Amino acid sequence: MKTAKKALKLAEAFEIKDGASFRLKDFDPADTQGIHSKEKAAELLHESTNMLCDLQEKLYAQDEWAVLLVVQAMDAAGKDSLIKHVMSGINPQGCEVTSFKQPSTEELNHDFLWRAARRLPERGHIGVFNRSYYEEVLVVRVHQELLAKQHLPSKLVTKKIWHERFEDIRNFEKYLSRNGVIILKFFLNVSKEEQKRRFLDRLDEPEKNWKFSEADVRERQCWDDYMHAYEELIQHTATPEAPWYVVPADHKWFTHMAVSAAVIHALKNLDLEYPKVEKDRRKALETARITLGKKPKG
Ligand code: ATP
Ligand code: MG
Repeated sequence: MKTAKKALKLAEAFEIKDGASFRLKDFDPADTQGIHSKEKAAELLHESTNMLCDLQEKLYAQDEWAVLLVVQAMDAAGKDSLIKHVMSGINPQGCEVTSFKQPSTEELNHDFLWRAARRLPERGHIGVFNRSYYEEVLVVRVHQELLAKQHLPSKLVTKKIWHERFEDIRNFEKYLSRNGVIILKFFLNVSKEEQKRRFLDRLDEPEKNWKFSEADVRERQCWDDYMHAYEELIQHTATPEAPWYVVPADHKWFTHMAVSAAVIHALKNLDLEYPKVEKDRRKALETARITLGKKPKG
């Protein structure tokens, strides 16, 4: 209970349910909400991992709700390690992670939500999108030549296209939420300075070299365009049914804790229970026990 309350407080600090007045500059990438010790954070993360396991078991057994976690960030903000930490310990059978890369020819031949719709979590499952349909109003907006590859009828490509996509995304998420999909969206808010430090680490430390890509440095040159795109998309797609969490990402330990808190809080709100065993079913279970050689109960 104590953990749930702490989770609620932590999650609320970064939650945006109405983007109208959202400004990125109001969110500090180095914020740790007054928690200064990594050890304290590790303790909290351990507690919340246990809690998440328990909640996921119930989600799976109940088989009604599905949970979709969308993770968006600039390079080196820590998407991969976040997913690894937050999902550690949960049952892999009830969880799928999809990484969205540059779209294939087949994907480009469909509407922009098509490939995401095919990877949505089924009831009882947690789906994690490592990048998502939000790339369609991020990288595609920053590099508009990508839009030309999408085979859209030219009549439909106007100045309004980004706002139309915001609207389509809002409608898609509303539709999902009406079908029992709980949607939580995380923007890992890393600072430009911290990104540089992490890139340099990747260059300096041999075991991190594999993570380095020249393309990441090129994208960094478009930093301001990306920040503008993030700010606008959050303003237009943060809703009560699909909130954004603008999570400080300069300290990875804090990112993990804050995301875990938001997930726990959302699952707690569902009042998940194991399915009730009806009287007839209980009788059948008792018969099975006896068949297995046990004495009748009571
Ligand atoms: P990591 O680098 O940790 O493996 P990543 O998510 O950065 O993870 P990459 O393969 O480096 O993976 O990059 C994927 C690239 O695909 C990103 O540059 C992203 O912007 C791009 N991408 C994703 N979705 C789309 C899309 N719909 N249209 C165009 N590009 C996209
Ligand atoms: Mg990358």
